[in-house]
Amino acid sequence: MMVDFEFRKEVMDKHVSSDLIKYCYQCSRCTDNCPVSAVSKDFYTTTGYDPRANILAALLGYKDVIFSQDPLAIWGCTVCDTCDEVCPQHIELTEIFTFLKNKSAEQGNAPEFIYSQAKAIFESSKAIPSQPAIERRRQQLGLPAVAEPNVGELQTLMKNIGAEKKLK
Ligand code: SF4
Ligand code: SF4
Repeated sequence: MMVDFEFRKEVMDKHVSSDLIKYCYQCSRCTDNCPVSAVSKDFYTTTGYDPRANILAALLGYKDVIFSQDPLAIWGCTVCDTCDEVCPQHIELTEIFTFLKNKSAEQGNAPEFIYSQAKAIFESSKAIPSQPAIERRRQQLGLPAVAEPNVGELQTLMKNIGAEKKLK
């Protein structure tokens, strides 16, 4: 476990309300209310997804802990926002986790499903490409047909922000 001061500074600088992360007093309310922790955390061995521990590691600059081999260490978060709502210090944990996930993807360390889903979005502009079964179901439910997205426009956007290169 090594302190990476550059990484620590990046976390502090990127966080939208950068003053707030340092006020985390490790009360664990985020972890206690996190649905992912509830199903993955082993209370006795402290393994599993733990937002409180991620915040502490980010705050201390423990880059190696954050980007460990276990993808659940940061990618387990489903961005349900519960932790943001319950944190007594009003820390926007999900903003910090988004930054950490982006760093992980930049390094090519994101789980495979992230790249395959991003690729599907690049190719079809949809996270879940349309299928005849989905369209039939919509018709049965009286829902309007899904408008066709402008794939070229989204691809241009993704190229301009460098996302296309990361997919390779
Ligand atoms: S709820 Fe907020 S203050 Fe408490 S441990 Fe989580 S981030 Fe820190
Ligand atoms: S946003 Fe992520 S870390 Fe926060 S409670 Fe939901 S799953 Fe857990």
